[in-house]
Amino acid sequence: MDIPENVQAVLKTLEAAGHEAWCVGGCVRDALSGRRPEDWDVAASARPEETLAVFGSRAEPTGLKHGTVTVKTPGGPVEVTTYRVDGAYRDHRRPESVTFTRSIGEDLARRDFTVNAMARNLRGELRDPFGGREDLRRGILRCVGDPDRRFQEDALRILRGLRFAAALGLEIEPGTAAAVRRNREGLRDIAAERIQVEFFKLLPGKGAAAVLRGYPEVFGVFWPELLPMVGFGQRNRHHCYDVWEHTLHALDAVPGDVVLRCAMLLHDVGKPACFTLDEKGVGHFYGHPAVSRDLADKMLRRLKCGTAFRETVVRLVEWHDKDIPRTDKSIRRALRILGEADLRRLILVKRADNLGQAPAYWDRQQELDKAEEILDRLLAGDACFSLKQLAVNGRDLLALGLFGPAVGKALEDLLEKAVDGVLPNNREALLEHVRKNRESGGEGGEYERP
Ligand code: ATP
Ligand code: MG
Repeated sequence: MDIPENVQAVLKTLEAAGHEAWCVGGCVRDALSGRRPEDWDVAASARPEETLAVFGSRAEPTGLKHGTVTVKTPGGPVEVTTYRVDGAYRDHRRPESVTFTRSIGEDLARRDFTVNAMARNLRGELRDPFGGREDLRRGILRCVGDPDRRFQEDALRILRGLRFAAALGLEIEPGTAAAVRRNREGLRDIAAERIQVEFFKLLPGKGAAAVLRGYPEVFGVFWPELLPMVGFGQRNRHHCYDVWEHTLHALDAVPGDVVLRCAMLLHDVGKPACFTLDEKGVGHFYGHPAVSRDLADKMLRRLKCGTAFRETVVRLVEWHDKDIPRTDKSIRRALRILGEADLRRLILVKRADNLGQAPAYWDRQQELDKAEEILDRLLAGDACFSLKQLAVNGRDLLALGLFGPAVGKALEDLLEKAVDGVLPNNREALLEHVRKNRESGGEGGEYERP
């Protein structure tokens, strides 16, 4: 395991001052399984004030209550946390108090899963009192200690467990898995923001669909809207799966990106509420995109998602079933409304939705290839689909004598005409159009002075 230089320097400085210091948790786990750790956490026998004294002005007390001091290094900040044991837990949430200890063994015992309860020092020594390395090698996620007790102490660990299973592709050990299910209601006491963090780290994982399939009732604690999809038969020839299985296949078919995964998870969430059966016994879900959109919006608000994230997901859900005609004009229009990034996402969503249907319908992929080709060609050329690209701007129109709201209205009108190919995106042609309309007072009444 190659500990980065700046982290090594922190460990050395602590040891030179007579303290113990170890890399702990996620970084040890990730390095052992051949992944690049995102950040390196250090646990030390030094009390926070001792760490502060050792590093002087390079140290900042960032989380003193939990014993965390942040050391500034040329390679970025390194968090040094005093060995601790957690005090009494209340309401299935974080402990009220923490107690510092001088024993790395005690510090490792408070950690959630065996694979997260390992420590490594400068000399490469590994502390692994719960068999985390062997569990990692065998691909197993297991609680440290009694799983019921650990989940009762802190219910967030339930979701963290599912997150590690999905992200690292681990199998949850049967005792831990049973306790995950038994204690799921404890998640009600956990703040939405903390649920969101773990859930959004789970969704991009390779094993996300498998974990959603295995534990829908756990996710149903905070998103009960998911549950009617489970086992809901579709009764039409497009589908070989029930709504939930279709959703999971579609989720698996988008890249591991949280926006796309979230859009796939929610794209059909309104289907059960929209189900009708016609006289031939064929199932329909008329209006489901709008119902899914409204449910998705509510669900994402409940998890306290950021506005931009929520709006993007909701829009993809709303649009997922719209046909994108394969013409320059319709692609330019879609670009105008969605922008490039979201139109590309929409194409991925539609591809995945189709791949989650019966294989006989997979030829839809070619239609999407075609839409993508047009999109690439338009973007490589001088396609006009936003005001930024329009060959005239507000100043040009002010110079022609328009002012006030008329300027914005005229720009929107010119953009629409340029997008639809009614006018070329050419400065002279656009200005000429404005001039003519003002003189004639014709269709461009909006170009008149207010
Ligand atoms: P990531 O790679 O996502 O950062 P991580 O394992 O480092 O994964 P963190 O949330 O950064 O996860 O936590 C760091 C370490 O702290 C964990 O590896 C674990 O040992 C411990 N830990 C974090 N949260 C809990 C918890 N709720 N209960 C017990 N131990 C925890
Ligand atoms: Mg971490």
